[in-house]
Amino acid sequence: MNKKLIICASVCFIVTILAILYLGLPRKLYGDPNGEVTYDMPDKIDFYKGERVWYCHVKQCARGYTQTELGVEYTDGATYYCKDCLDKWENLEEGTSQYKKFHTDVKSKDDFILKDRSVGEKALLPEGTPIRRRNYKAQNGVQLNTTAVFSGTERGSIHRPQNCLRAAGGRFSNEYTHTIKISDKKDLDVHIIHLSNVYTDSSGKPEVVHSIYAYWFFNPFKETESHTTRFIYTLLDGAFLNYRPRWAYVSVAFIVDPNDPERWKTILQDFIPRLYPHLEKYREQERAKRWIETIITPEEKK
Ligand SMILES: [Zn+2]
Repeated sequence: MNKKLIICASVCFIVTILAILYLGLPRKLYGDPNGEVTYDMPDKIDFYKGERVWYCHVKQCARGYTQTELGVEYTDGATYYCKDCLDKWENLEEGTSQYKKFHTDVKSKDDFILKDRSVGEKALLPEGTPIRRRNYKAQNGVQLNTTAVFSGTERGSIHRPQNCLRAAGGRFSNEYTHTIKISDKKDLDVHIIHLSNVYTDSSGKPEVVHSIYAYWFFNPFKETESHTTRFIYTLLDGAFLNYRPRWAYVSVAFIVDPNDPERWKTILQDFIPRLYPHLEKYREQERAKRWIETIITPEEKK
């Protein structure tokens, strides 16, 4: 074996061990990783009208609702119930098989209070991970599910988006980097996934839905479409600067028309440059938090 290779491997090994030991000690972090996330998705982005989205956490239901579908005005902290489950709760006849099936998952009305995150997100993300989301609709029929997930000091709050999509039953036919022109001076690289999911309609027939899933990550100073690059930035900032700002993971997802397979490019190129300035405004506020100190003990990190 090559001598140089052995030396290199040994150094890498020692550095890794030291890093693990170091990360286990209480330490001072900068960048306010657990601070309040002041960002919210705007209710309106030019002619795109945003609606909040909620999810039912009853396993056999798992339905998502937009504000219109729910027929409510949004009030902060209000409780909303899943319409489908409420209907079953009130109307299923006791003793029937449907009743039994429903009540294996549902013991009280609290079980179908709608949440701001899907069942899958709840399972994969640490408790309390901030999520901001709107379903944006334009008059030309375009509908985009736009989500920002924010990391804290817990590990795992942002992980490879591919894992979540696969866990939700998605299949990828292609993925690559695509560039969006934000302005004359600014380009933004986003990662594109061509996704397909199989759903069964009410008659039990399977239906394939094709969609585009675009994402990128940013922190106050960096942005990247690559999960690996983001991970390296986090590692270097943490190891050398004790800098641990929140990262945001932004995704824009929408259904594509198989008869017009290239239209997604126009849709994204129209929408992202309109969303981007709202994110930038937030990033500016976050840059001001560069030197805020947080003392963190190993227990808190878990
Ligand atoms: Zn439900």
